[in-house]
Amino acid sequence: MRPSSLSNIQHLKIFVWSLLLCLLASCIAHTPTTVIDLTYPFDDQTVYWPNNKPFQWEKLKWGKNASGHWYASGAFSASEHGGTHLDAPVHFAEQGRSVDQIPVEELIGPAIVIDVRTQAEGNPDYELQVEDVQAWETEHGHIPKDSLVLLFTGWGKYWPERIRYLGSPTPEDPTTLHFPGYSAQSIQFLVSQRGIRGVGIDTASIDPGRSNDFLAHRVLSEANLYALENVAALEKLPPTGAIVTALPIKIRGGSGGPVRIFATIP
Ligand SMILES: [Zn+2]
Repeated sequence: MRPSSLSNIQHLKIFVWSLLLCLLASCIAHTPTTVIDLTYPFDDQTVYWPNNKPFQWEKLKWGKNASGHWYASGAFSASEHGGTHLDAPVHFAEQGRSVDQIPVEELIGPAIVIDVRTQAEGNPDYELQVEDVQAWETEHGHIPKDSLVLLFTGWGKYWPERIRYLGSPTPEDPTTLHFPGYSAQSIQFLVSQRGIRGVGIDTASIDPGRSNDFLAHRVLSEANLYALENVAALEKLPPTGAIVTALPIKIRGGSGGPVRIFATIP
């Protein structure tokens, strides 16, 4: 066999191996990823905190113009704390960061989901206990640093029925609300012992509805961390493994605002 033909065979082998490696890489790159939207739409049904101005939207121009082509343009206004939204640390801590001061690096990362539907089912005043967190860790492992902790109470099934969701026949009166939330102790534990990057919940507030001192908010805000409230579709997330991205409207100096949240599950 002449040296040149041997070289050709080697070239052919290299070519075939390269082709196989490319195919393998392309298969890995295209492994399907599930993307889940964790955001409620903003409309006239959107639940806002009692006595907060609701979401408002109007069509300014909506139709064919004089020259015959379509043109649509509207205007909206809303309070910061309603619908699926983010609470910036300044919401409950005077020196805390405003919504625009939270870097995007903190708004994306791994999330864990603690399911307390059983505890909350017969008790709308249920508060997450440190023992619930420890029981979760016994089953799923230590909560990794910089996790987003999502509390799954099951309250999303009542959205957007204001009376049931806020747990009161007088939902305009914030002293009459009943829905589950975080205890201050559980937030303190997650912040100081687990180094989390934020929390979220499928109710209107991280504090339970009956709270009047908002201790969960205050402990979290003092730690300069954020909260996500009225998070949708938590039933679609696994206890571990989801990467959650939560991008709030960047209001300079704002105490929070509407947020688009989605999870990717590899
Ligand atoms: Zn809020």
